[in-house]
Amino acid sequence: MQQPYRIYLSPPELAGDEEAAVLSAMRSGWIAPLGPDVDAFEAEFAQRVGSPHAIALSSGTAALHLALLGAGLGAGDYVAVSSFTFAASVNPILYTGAIPVLIDSERSSWNMDPGLLEDALIEGERRGRQLRAIVLVHLYGQPADIDAIQSIADRYGVTVIEDAAEALGAAYNGAAPGTFGRAGIFSFNGNKIITTSGGGMLVTRDRLLAEHARKLATQAREPAPHYEHVEVGYNYRLSNLLAAVGRVQLRDLERRVLARRAIFERYAAMLAPLPGFALMPEASWATHSRWLTCITIDPVASGTDRDTVRMLLERHGIESRPLWKPMHLQPVFRDAPRYDAGVSTALFRHGLCLPSGSGLSAADLSEVGDLIRSVIDGPPARQAPA
Ligand SMILES: *Cc1c(COP(=O)(O)O)cnc(C)c1O
Repeated sequence: MQQPYRIYLSPPELAGDEEAAVLSAMRSGWIAPLGPDVDAFEAEFAQRVGSPHAIALSSGTAALHLALLGAGLGAGDYVAVSSFTFAASVNPILYTGAIPVLIDSERSSWNMDPGLLEDALIEGERRGRQLRAIVLVHLYGQPADIDAIQSIADRYGVTVIEDAAEALGAAYNGAAPGTFGRAGIFSFNGNKIITTSGGGMLVTRDRLLAEHARKLATQAREPAPHYEHVEVGYNYRLSNLLAAVGRVQLRDLERRVLARRAIFERYAAMLAPLPGFALMPEASWATHSRWLTCITIDPVASGTDRDTVRMLLERHGIESRPLWKPMHLQPVFRDAPRYDAGVSTALFRHGLCLPSGSGLSAADLSEVGDLIRSVIDGPPARQAPA
């Protein structure tokens, strides 16, 4: 166990009715694996994001794996993926035997740069490593430039799969990221905006993909009284008890997005005036969910740096974290082709995620902001004795 913090980055928050919901699911006899709470969670989630089909799964990683299999990807295929992300966006590409091609970010959204994607597609055709799919990540709750990416994908006949694990509650021109591509995935891990302690969701408009994903997630069992299998399956379904938790959490989503956006605004008011400090932009097409508030600290302009700030917070029992280390810098993906313009490398070097949980109190938020300001302004002035 790591050292306990007083203020965490993004701790799980209960909405209040989870205990009763789990108890009632237990008493109903529907413990596992499936049951009425799974069906209702899927229907309510599909309704909330505006997708015809939703499949509740054991994790976002499992959901992405099934989305890739559903798109027909396998050994030897190339898949373009955002380099600036969590490793779970890339690992499932390798589970299928396909090869990731890492694409750097644009400055305006921190998400996949459409120009670099097109470079990868052009060079892929020339070199005979034809890309078959794109895993488009909506990082930290900011939707990527979906229209630009989709129109490039259409021109090259490539499938788009959206990793919206961090972007539940965000909007792209008013609609939910995750619902634009062939399939989209969400995560209910403990640190995400809603949680089932662990879980995920696959959404799609494609009825056949949905049916196939459901089958693969239950060991690819064929419809027969005995256990009959013609393809390799997985054990990826969400338990009915956890779906009961998810339903309660989902009802609280709107408030959580507003809370996280308000936390961002408060940080912005405290930190944006400091020299060399900047906050993650909100793209023109986006309603950012502000899953995490992210800042960058320019060492020259500020006279301090990311690690000085992070260690100061650490000493006060406050958890903060460097931005994701891009996948093109990760030893495990050292052999993956990459299209790198240095954008995510610089963000990683200078960027920090601040405590952003929807339950963060105003006093804790002010304490974090004041501590960071003290690095620039010096410690807060003592009150003169009366
Ligand atoms: C959390 C996360 C995932 C994986 O979700 P799990 O439910 O933890 O498996 C995938 N992609 C991104 C960008 C994430 O942040």
